Amino acid sequence: MNEVKRVGVVGAGVMGAGLAENAALDGIDVVLVDIGEVQLNACRQRIEQSMRFAKMFRTAPRERPALEAREAIKKISFVTEYAALEGCDFIVENTTEKWDVKKAAYHSLSESISGKTVIAANTSCFSITRLGGLIPNPERLLGIHFMNPVPMKDTVEMIRGHWTSEETIEFARTFLAQIGKSGILVNDAPGFVSNRVLMLTINEAIMVLQDGVSTAADVDNIFKKCFEHKMGPLETADLIGLDTILYSIEVLHESFGDSKYRPAPLLKRMVHAGLLGQKAGAGFYNYGGKKK
Ligand code: NAD
Repeated sequence: MNEVKRVGVVGAGVMGAGLAENAALDGIDVVLVDIGEVQLNACRQRIEQSMRFAKMFRTAPRERPALEAREAIKKISFVTEYAALEGCDFIVENTTEKWDVKKAAYHSLSESISGKTVIAANTSCFSITRLGGLIPNPERLLGIHFMNPVPMKDTVEMIRGHWTSEETIEFARTFLAQIGKSGILVNDAPGFVSNRVLMLTINEAIMVLQDGVSTAADVDNIFKKCFEHKMGPLETADLIGLDTILYSIEVLHESFGDSKYRPAPLLKRMVHAGLLGQKAGAGFYNYGGKKK
């Protein structure tokens, strides 16, 4: 199967930036699309900063990327026009975890790319079959749930939607191998395996904090010191972004109609207050930004 030479990355936030960086360092041309220059400039800064610190944090397989940082950044085109995606062999969609946003993005994709282009939805919780209903050729769509930070995580969750073809899965595996990753394939359901479990855990950890059972640091310490997890659920929430957590748990709530997925009121309050975690400078912990 042919390799991917040019990848389209739609959505230049936390995940789009990580993916563009990873693919460019592996020598693949990247077309990175977002809705405005503000988002694209912030993304370029995020990538440049991450590349500067890369050597310190990278795990073994990413220690020797194909290109040096200054060459890799030139591989990325930062654009606002979906038309620039024409000619991409593979697209990864990383827009905000809101149905109306995804709907608009898939509509623009359907108008701009060939029906043969394979699309990977990097969604936290939306059913891949449901997203497939937004495009005319759902056999070309699969889910790839990349882990954050993308350049440091070598394993992803792959999701087979109802119509996803074997060819699509195989092509996605080829792309993943090119960027130093492998995938664990699961069947489609909202939240898949990872986030159906993780979002519930994070939401419940927020409820525990809200009820005054413990401090944020000790909620995380229980997981790190007792269970030997690398990170606690509240640190994980800060890394992912509290807005993305809220949208994800809302998707699970709506999709399953099960009250166990009701979002914690404290989570909502923090999102409304702009305490979104690392990307905003403050969340459950402070990262040099605003603090309540
Ligand atoms: P984010 O909020 O950091 O970035 C989303 C980006 O999408 C923003 O820059 C926004 O301007 C852009 N966008 C919105 N509408 C668009 C459109 N029509 N076309 C192009 N760009 C558009 O979010 P994120 O954390 O990068 O998450 C992106 C997706 O990846 C979500 O579906 C999320 O659930 C999923 N995801 C997130 C994580 C994580 O740890 N943050 C992990 C795995 C998957």
